[in-house]
Amino acid sequence: APLLVAIDGPAGSGKSSVSRAAAERLGFGILDTGAAYRALAWAALETGTDLDDPAAVEGLMNLWAYDITLQGEQRVTVGLVGASPIDVTPAIREHSVSGQVSRVSKHPAVRERLNAMFLDIVAGSGLPGVVIEGRDITTVVAPDAPVRILMTASPEIRATRRAGELPGMTHAQVLADIEARDAKDALVVDFLNPAPGVTLVDTSDLDFEQSVQAVIDIVRA
Ligand code: C5P
Repeated sequence: APLLVAIDGPAGSGKSSVSRAAAERLGFGILDTGAAYRALAWAALETGTDLDDPAAVEGLMNLWAYDITLQGEQRVTVGLVGASPIDVTPAIREHSVSGQVSRVSKHPAVRERLNAMFLDIVAGSGLPGVVIEGRDITTVVAPDAPVRILMTASPEIRATRRAGELPGMTHAQVLADIEARDAKDALVVDFLNPAPGVTLVDTSDLDFEQSVQAVIDIVRA
């Protein structure tokens, strides 16, 4: 079985980009679990499924085929019954999805099914190791992972980093968006405080390279 490195944290903590770079340098795969929640929200919006109805969202999950690359450039595809797989890689990053994704991720039954899917993807990867990043990886998805990290940064720093990725939005708008999404997500899982045994990496005062090195040092320790 692949060696698991579980990394949780909020948007803008550096979690996604740092996890990806660390995984590459370790020769591991990277599983971005947020992409599945985003793709599911995208599919629900696309098919007119009620995102607040857990049975409807679960019904949609019976009809979708989800795929994500674990190495190289990230590619996410969704196949809906009767249609060939659609590349949703850019679409799932749009504000229209980011603003709605908490509506599907709040359902416990949906989370359980995605968690099982994540473990299947990792087990079938054939890779020596996989970094799994999300909100509840250290606590729910892979609580027994040999390496568990919670990556944080102050809200202001997170907004500054995200603002660089979202031209056209002011710092204040980005900060408001991040805080609103964190508040909704934190009702479901606590990703702001490390669980027992989880190593806290605060990247507020670290640059990208230092953050990647911090993760690699923890994995190699
Ligand atoms: O990590 P990212 O910001 O792409 O995650 C998108 C959304 O997916 C989060 O806002 C959250 O609602 C949900 N999510 C989750 N549990 C995870 C990963 C993501 O609930 N493990």
